Amino acid sequence: MSEDVVSDTVAGTWTKPFEPPKEIPTHADVAIIGGGIVGVSTAWFLAKQGLDVVLCEKGHIAGEQSGRNWGWVRQQMRDARELPMMIVSIKIWKTLSEEIGEDVGFTQGGCVYAARNDKELEEYEAWLPTAKAYGLDTRSLSSEEVAQHIRGASFKWKGAIYTPSDGRAEPHLAAPAIARAAEQEGAKILTSCAVRGIETEAGRASAVVTEHGTIKTAKILCAGGAWTSMFCRSIDIKVPQLKVKCTVSRTEPGHDIMDGELWEDETGIRRRQDGGYTISNEGFLEHSITPTTFRHSMAFLPALKSEFGSLSLSIGRDFFHELSSPKKWNLDRPSPFEETRVLNPDPNPRAVAKMRRNLDEIFPAMRDRELVESWAGMIETTPDVIPIIEETKQIPGFYIATGFSGHGFGIGPGAGLAIAGMITGKETGIDLSEFRLGRFYDGTKIELYKKV
Ligand SMILES: Cc1cc2nc3c(=O)[nH]c(=O)nc-3n(C[C@H](O)[C@H](O)[C@H](O)COP(=O)(O)OP(=O)(O)OC[C@H]3O[C@@H](n4cnc5c(N)ncnc54)[C@H](O)[C@@H]3O)c2cc1C
Repeated sequence: MSEDVVSDTVAGTWTKPFEPPKEIPTHADVAIIGGGIVGVSTAWFLAKQGLDVVLCEKGHIAGEQSGRNWGWVRQQMRDARELPMMIVSIKIWKTLSEEIGEDVGFTQGGCVYAARNDKELEEYEAWLPTAKAYGLDTRSLSSEEVAQHIRGASFKWKGAIYTPSDGRAEPHLAAPAIARAAEQEGAKILTSCAVRGIETEAGRASAVVTEHGTIKTAKILCAGGAWTSMFCRSIDIKVPQLKVKCTVSRTEPGHDIMDGELWEDETGIRRRQDGGYTISNEGFLEHSITPTTFRHSMAFLPALKSEFGSLSLSIGRDFFHELSSPKKWNLDRPSPFEETRVLNPDPNPRAVAKMRRNLDEIFPAMRDRELVESWAGMIETTPDVIPIIEETKQIPGFYIATGFSGHGFGIGPGAGLAIAGMITGKETGIDLSEFRLGRFYDGTKIELYKKV
């Protein structure tokens, strides 16, 4: 590794010292739980509308999923129900750096899903009518065209689908920059500030209780990522959510094999702003079975069946840890959210070794490029792999935005706009009805990867 390559570009987001707030406000128009891309984007849009917003993050901004993801900002192969919000999100990404005056690393280098065989190609091309219905620039690529986009591969792909307007942003830059933009607009962003629970008055949300004190507010958004289900369970709201560990690596800069993003077989690669590549391997998605798995198993059956080939299941420490963890707690004592300020799973060395082998096999020129950093993140997902966004029926004034299911980074800014609109009643043109929590309990058929 050359000396000027920084080895913690990504991990620096969550390994820095914690900075608890010096003081906390007593009131806010809206309190947001969670400083991932969804929470900070919502805070930014709300603050721009002149609302008094406070965001509480138990650890660091982007310390969990939003700082650890692959950085794909993709419309391609999305569930049709998410596309309207995703298309708006791309529009926001395009001007975001300029608008907030900070670089978020966004560029539109395109997204290629390359097929090794006819079956894969057929599967990808089955999505083309959906792209057309939403006016996207997705098209098929011939084998020769793929070779023009993806240079120096050791074999020829059968063909591909390609969306030139798809892009990437840098996860370690984006959410922290949006959080600072929200602060510039007057939002208060509090880190090392876990929300232990909420208070209600006459059945409505009336305050968040943080480890540093209580903030009165009539509107609370829970954008707690992997913690949302646990948080909501403590206030008797059932949110089906499972966690899957995914290991990621990045190479040092050098060699120009492609711009944008490539999905092929089980490997994902995307060009980084620093000239290296972020690599991942879908063959190593790991789910540690816990009592929650059993609680939500029926709802998740279709998703588990669809991902079965790439999902590795295990049972061990996590099972007993969850079993012995409290389901409810006193709000005047430390809560599970303070116990784990940052959910920081270890990267799986076998996954890293597999990525190395895949990269060397596909791109022989990359053999001299070291994997300079590896990390892991816990993806949280819903039974139909699309988010839950709504004001809860159980507690008016308590909103949920969670379950972005492995593709919430790209859609985050669009979701922030839509959620801010939901909270203030301002029309955004984005229909959120498909994302109701009730769909899991009212007999609605659970559909995966919906096309037009
Ligand atoms: C390895 C990996 C790869 C991925 N790749 C992509 C990709 O390429 N493209 C894409 O679009 N998406 C991708 N995703 C998914 C994407 O990262 C997530 O969907 C998105 O970041 C979710 O954002 P969020 O704000 O909802 O949650 P998070 O980023 O998880 O943020 C939630 C925050 O809430 C905080 N919190 C929770 N409970 C409390 C509490 N009680 N008090 C205070 N704070 C609390 C947590 O500490 C956390 O920081 C990937 C995810 C992972 C893990």
